[in-house]
Amino acid sequence: MTEELTFEKSHPSAPPPRLPEAGVEAAPRLPANLLRKRPPALPRLSEPEVMRHYSRLASLNYSISENFYPLGSCTMKYNPVANEQAARLPGFAELHPYQDPETIQGALELMWRLERALCEIAGVDRITLQPAAGAHGEWTALRMIQAYHLARGEERSEVIVPDAAHGTNPASAALCGFRVVEVKSAPDGRVDVGDLEAKLSNRVAALMLTNPNTLGLFERQILEVSEMVHATGAKLYYDGANLNALMGICRPGDMGFDAVHMNLHKTFTTPHGGGGPGSGPVGVKADLVPFLPRPTVERENGRFFLDSERPQSIGRVRSFYGNFGMLVRAFTYIQAMGGDGLTQASKDAVLAANYVRKRLEGVLDLPHEGPCMHEFVASARNLAPQGIKALDLAKGLLERGFYAPTVYFPLIVPEAVMVEPTETESKATLDAFAEAVKEIVELARTDPDELRAEPRSLPVGRLDEVRAARNPVLRWRPDGESD
Ligand SMILES: *Cc1c(COP(=O)(O)O)cnc(C)c1O
Repeated sequence: MTEELTFEKSHPSAPPPRLPEAGVEAAPRLPANLLRKRPPALPRLSEPEVMRHYSRLASLNYSISENFYPLGSCTMKYNPVANEQAARLPGFAELHPYQDPETIQGALELMWRLERALCEIAGVDRITLQPAAGAHGEWTALRMIQAYHLARGEERSEVIVPDAAHGTNPASAALCGFRVVEVKSAPDGRVDVGDLEAKLSNRVAALMLTNPNTLGLFERQILEVSEMVHATGAKLYYDGANLNALMGICRPGDMGFDAVHMNLHKTFTTPHGGGGPGSGPVGVKADLVPFLPRPTVERENGRFFLDSERPQSIGRVRSFYGNFGMLVRAFTYIQAMGGDGLTQASKDAVLAANYVRKRLEGVLDLPHEGPCMHEFVASARNLAPQGIKALDLAKGLLERGFYAPTVYFPLIVPEAVMVEPTETESKATLDAFAEAVKEIVELARTDPDELRAEPRSLPVGRLDEVRAARNPVLRWRPDGESD
C-alpha cells in the first residue's frame, strides 16, 4: 500500500511531453558559468502514469471529506462546497493584487462586509483581515497592544499566559519581546484567580486567555478577571482561534476583552491543510483601532478604498491584504448560515461534545466536572495498569477508520485525549466513535500487546516519532548524490 516516488518510477521510455511552441525566441546566451553542467534530474513518466500516481497518493490520505476528525482545539468541521464555488468565481479567483481599487470594488466590499460580520460576532469595533494564521493573529494583536502602551509612554515587559494555553500564546508573546509569566489553573480547570492577582503588576502588558479554555470549560469568573486586569492598565487578549461554542450566544468584546483573533480555518469552515493557507483576523476595541495594520478597507459615498494613511499603524503584517480566498469562503459561510444558523451551529457543537463526553463516562477518565463547551479533555491514565498510553488509544482509532483526537495537550492533563466533535457530525458518527473507543479500551484489558501493534491495516504502522522529529529526511536524492 505504499507508492514509489515519481523519481523512482521514472523511465526513459516514457514519451516526452508534447508542448506547444513557446512563441518566443530561445533564451539569449547566458554566461557559461551560469549554465547547468548537466540537465536537471526530472522524473520522466507518461501522462496516465502521473495521473495514477497522484490519484493513488490521494487515496492514501485522510481528510474531513472522508470521515470523522475529532481533533480537539482544531475544529475540523465540514468545509461546505458552496464556499469553494464562491472562491472560484473568476471575479475573485483571477484578481491581481496590484489592480486599481476602482476595478476591485466587489472584492473590497466583501472584505468590508466580512469585517462588519466578524465585528458583530466578536463584539469588537474594527478588525484586520491580514494575519495568515491564528499564531500570526496573536502576534499582530500583541504588537498593537505593545504600540498602545508605548504611545502612552509605558514600557510594559510582561505577558501573562495560563498553563493550559495553546503553545502559540507564549510563543507569540516571546516573539514580540515580552517575558512570559505563567498563571496556574485551579483544580476545577479554570484560571486560579489568586495566582493571577499575585502576578499582575504595572509591568504586565496583557493577559492572554481562551474562553472556553483548552479544557473546554467556560471561565465563569471572566468579568472579575477583566476588572482585575484593567485595573492595572493591562489589556485582555482573547485567543478566539475557536469560537465554536460562542457564536450568537456571547461575545468576547462583552466579556471585557480588548483584542481577539479568530481562525477562519476553524470556526468559519475554510479548509485547514498542510500548514496553510489559514486566516486569523484580529478584532480590537476602539482604543486599539489606531494601531491596526494598514491598509484598512474603508467606505466613502458608497465606494470602497484602501486606507494607508494611518500614522499610528503597526504597518503591514502580510503581503497585500491577507489570504483573500479564505475571506471569500468565510463570508460565504456566514451569509449562508445567517445569525440564527451560526447560533444553532454553536449549540449543536456544544451538544455533540457533551454527548460524546457522556458516552465515554466510565470508559476513560474525565478529570474535570462537566458540562463542557465545544470540546472536552479525557485522560487515558486509567489504562496505565495495562501499560497502555494515550498514544496507543490514538493509534487504535486510526486502525478503526477515525482520525485520532488531539493527545498530550493540554499539558496539565496526564495522558490527555482532547475531543472536539463539531456540529457537522451525525449522532450515528458520534456513536460509532464512542463504540470504537470502548472497543479499544476493552482490547487494552484483554490483549494490550495487540493494541500496541496497531495500526495494522494502514500504509504505515508505528513510526519512530522521535527520529522523525530529530532527523527528518525531507529530500529525495538520486543514488550517490549528496548536498
Ligand atoms: C489553533 C489554535 C491556535 C493557533 O492557530 P494557527 O492558525 O494554527 O496558528 C491558537 N490557539 C488555539 C486555542 C488554537 O486552537
